[in-house]
Amino acid sequence: MKVYMNNAGPTNGQSRALQGIAVVPGVVNGSVAWFRHGPELPRRGYRVKVADRPAELERFHDALDDVATGLREQADRLTGVTADVIRSSVYLVTDRGWVGPAERDITAGMTAETATGHQIGRFIELLERRGGFAAERTADLRDIRDRIARRLQGIDEPSLPKLTPSSILVADELAPADIAAIDPNSIGAIATIRGGLTGHIAIVARQLGIPYVTGVMDLTVLSEGTSALLDGVRGLVIANPPTSVVAQRLASDERHREQVETWSGPAQTRDKVPVSLLANVQDENTIDEARHTMVDGVGLFRTELCFINRSVEPSVDEQASIYEKVFRAFGNRVTIRTLDSGSDKPLKFAHTGREENPALGMRGVRIGLQNEDLLIRQLDAIAEGARRAGLSDDTAPRVMAPMISRVSEARHFAAMVRERGLIPGIVVEVPATAIMAEMFMREVDFCSIGTNDLIQYTMAADRLSADLFELTDPWQPAGLRLINSVIEAAKKCGKSVSICGESASDPYLAQVFVGMGVDALSMAPNAVPEVGVVLEKWDMHHYQELAQEVLKAEGAHHARRIAADYFAQLKEDEGAVGELSEEMTG
Ligand code: PEP
Ligand code: MG
Repeated sequence: MKVYMNNAGPTNGQSRALQGIAVVPGVVNGSVAWFRHGPELPRRGYRVKVADRPAELERFHDALDDVATGLREQADRLTGVTADVIRSSVYLVTDRGWVGPAERDITAGMTAETATGHQIGRFIELLERRGGFAAERTADLRDIRDRIARRLQGIDEPSLPKLTPSSILVADELAPADIAAIDPNSIGAIATIRGGLTGHIAIVARQLGIPYVTGVMDLTVLSEGTSALLDGVRGLVIANPPTSVVAQRLASDERHREQVETWSGPAQTRDKVPVSLLANVQDENTIDEARHTMVDGVGLFRTELCFINRSVEPSVDEQASIYEKVFRAFGNRVTIRTLDSGSDKPLKFAHTGREENPALGMRGVRIGLQNEDLLIRQLDAIAEGARRAGLSDDTAPRVMAPMISRVSEARHFAAMVRERGLIPGIVVEVPATAIMAEMFMREVDFCSIGTNDLIQYTMAADRLSADLFELTDPWQPAGLRLINSVIEAAKKCGKSVSICGESASDPYLAQVFVGMGVDALSMAPNAVPEVGVVLEKWDMHHYQELAQEVLKAEGAHHARRIAADYFAQLKEDEGAVGELSEEMTG
């Protein structure tokens, strides 16, 4: 059942497998529907007569109002991260950074179209030069430009083609609002050329459960209507797939889906070694979502995201009442992370101003240690929330600090946390900390490995860059080796170690991490059943062997290949049709 792999030229009806990166699992057989970007907007030209300029300005504002209202209404119909992501796009529509200069352009005689194209274009170029979080926003800005353009030119929505449940929506790049507008039942899957594993589009697709593959460089060889199989498990888009491949992949996926839908825990390997699966939460909605999922607790509460739109620091009392909710829901099975402000998540009330290189700047505990009162108030609020929820010293929850990079920071933070009767830990996400993990582990009671940042800093590649996704691939062996050494150090010191980055929700990496000896995996709540099902496929000693094999890889693709070959071999040895091996090897 081999599929012809050749990346030159159009498919001409031939079967062709295009490799990308798996983001949201699921297999869909359907046909290609290209996303249509908005009409091109001119960026030059003054031609509005003086007398008509006030009306032109009004036309411009009407378009902005309409687009903002449309997005706001869309956000109100949604929940969770998807709603938050769309709401953040509303701010961009009215952002004075481009709207002010566009108004001046129109007053000077430009058309609303030209001023929009000119100023959003400049804004995009500026953000691209800044990189990081700023560059990530450019997809959203392009989306807004498209929306305003369509509104100004009287083109009725949508960039979305007519979709059916078997449509595979393909695009160079998508903005969250594009897919958030889609009823997940009216589309099959999504494939894009650009877009990382941790970008907004990935977060939204994951929440909506739409199978998604990104980084498919050769996507443009697919023409509208081409029949295609999207495999969100192996990160493939197969054009004109042979019927045997379609039948086998769909059947295997259906069996797998059924298992995922009916999975009810407990999470364990096939030989019944328990694995703790925890939820990453960020606010009351996600706490609620986690409560309705089979999770053993909360492994990461991203507190900064709870306050991301606040300009004034919430009082100790207000913070305590939020933390109390998570403790009431999960008792002391909660790990709260202190504010990770800065870089891509700057909080207005906990930020040190403009930086040339914010990911390498004042971020996380660095801000908390510089402005210690802020950290003290948060720790007091966590202790108070625990007290209100009835937790005592014997049932104390865990608190960890992000971006720890020196042993002295860990020691100081641990003392502050212990003073309040809480259990101190650190996020290991800076390579320096991973390299010296053993020394850090003597200072604290636990650690959680933040793989998103650990990979970004290890590979010197911005985690938000859609162009660098191959470098920030969590299967990069350099990152895996560091993770393995942190787990070894924690074990040696008798401390617990978990993983809370996005990679914990990749079911195959979850197997690798379990084989390395991790105690818990923390992830978006809706990823838990998938990981739970896949972990049950094989025994602990298989995962241990798998981890050792994967650590020999020279690159990310190689690491995946090793895992696939390992399971193919197991399948052969056991003579069993393990679905996992089918998933990995086809
Ligand atoms: C990480 O870096 O992996 C992590 C869990 O934290 P965040 O994504 O919030 O930086
Ligand atoms: Mg991090």
